[in-house]
Amino acid sequence: MSKVTEYVTSIQNKIHSNDPNQVEFLQAIDEFLPSVIPFLEEHPEYVESDILSLITEPERLIQFRVPWQDDKGKWQVNRGYRIQFNSAMGPYKGGLRFHPSVNLSILKFLAFEQIFKNSLTGLPIGGGKGGSDFDPKGKSDAEIMRFCQSFMTELSKHIGPDTDVPAGDIGVGGREIGYLFGAYKRLKQYDAGVLTGKPLDFWGSKGRTEATGYGAVYFVKHLLADLDQDFQGKKAIVSGSGNVAIYAIEKLEQLGAKAITASDSSGFVYDPEGIDVALLKDIKEVRRERLTAYAVERPSAQYFDGDSVWNFKVEADLAFPCATQNEINIDQAKILADNGVKVVAEGANMPSTLEAAEYFIENGIFYCPGKAANAGGVAVSALEMSQNSQRLQWEKDQVDSMLDNIMKNIFEACRDTANAHGAENNFMLGANIAGFERVAKAMLAQGL
Ligand code: GLU
Repeated sequence: MSKVTEYVTSIQNKIHSNDPNQVEFLQAIDEFLPSVIPFLEEHPEYVESDILSLITEPERLIQFRVPWQDDKGKWQVNRGYRIQFNSAMGPYKGGLRFHPSVNLSILKFLAFEQIFKNSLTGLPIGGGKGGSDFDPKGKSDAEIMRFCQSFMTELSKHIGPDTDVPAGDIGVGGREIGYLFGAYKRLKQYDAGVLTGKPLDFWGSKGRTEATGYGAVYFVKHLLADLDQDFQGKKAIVSGSGNVAIYAIEKLEQLGAKAITASDSSGFVYDPEGIDVALLKDIKEVRRERLTAYAVERPSAQYFDGDSVWNFKVEADLAFPCATQNEINIDQAKILADNGVKVVAEGANMPSTLEAAEYFIENGIFYCPGKAANAGGVAVSALEMSQNSQRLQWEKDQVDSMLDNIMKNIFEACRDTANAHGAENNFMLGANIAGFERVAKAMLAQGL
């Protein structure tokens, strides 16, 4: 074992023994650390300064109580969190997730991934994440508002346009950002740049809602162009039905591919004619109904209740997991290979287990990790911060072409960094090293 490998293993062991129950965080660590070994071999100065101990420890963890009153007048209490993981590249930046599964481990994995994702965008943003175990499902608008107001009462003490800039994630969209923004404004002052993903009426960026889904498709567009291919006639299996999935489906269809599935937590729809985006948007964004409505209203579609879309045997060229972490396990990775899938582009964060991701890479499937493929959302968030500082709102075309260009740069960074380390087409290694290099360099330059 080389000295560097020994060093990396010792850090992994230390983190496992410090936080043995933080399974998602440990998974992100076990994926990340071994992949930067080739870089550390070339740069002993980072080993000497024990960079991995520093970079794997959040700068600050904030946990707080969120009391709120439901519509029956009963008091409820949830847990709120903000993880300020790394500020080497800029203010902490990352979304807020409201979902009953939220805990410290999940937020630490998300915040850790965010550091390198944000670095890959080439924009001045550090890494953070936050959220709550609050379940928005089935809550009234007024309950959501009261929860957001209470959440912000505490969060407002820790954020600001130049310190920490939250946005949305699962369970937090334009409506929630609106309530959070209103609460912040009343508690502090009108700082347009304190949150991103704001509605367009109060200084949101055009194209932000679409950015994560469009960005994932742009990443694949550049990959396909590199292989002298395009989207014409290709079929895609897509999971999820939130804004990442919806806009990935929309962009796929605009570029000549056909998305044939979408899913929610109860099952999935298969529509061999191609998902009707207008209907999907109406059901999910306007009516806020369940996906079952899609199959009722669309004759060509079928709803598969209680099953994962990743167990579905259907011929396809591309897969876009856009739902949540660990949605694709090793058995499902094999099903995707049998289905003929050649590209897996992660719209969600860590949707493939480590075993599944390694299977893709070892079997010649182009695996586009979330921290690269879904960086379009946070990239346009950073563009929103720029617009807010300028007191300007840019045109949608301008934002979209900047997004496309950022995704091209990220794809090229993944490809070129992988190639430079003798790991052709290993975009996991490419993304991790390219994202890490910039942050590690900044950390050393800023003094330990
Ligand atoms: N939640 C998104 C992500 O996982 C976006 C974060 C942001 O816009 O700050 O990258």
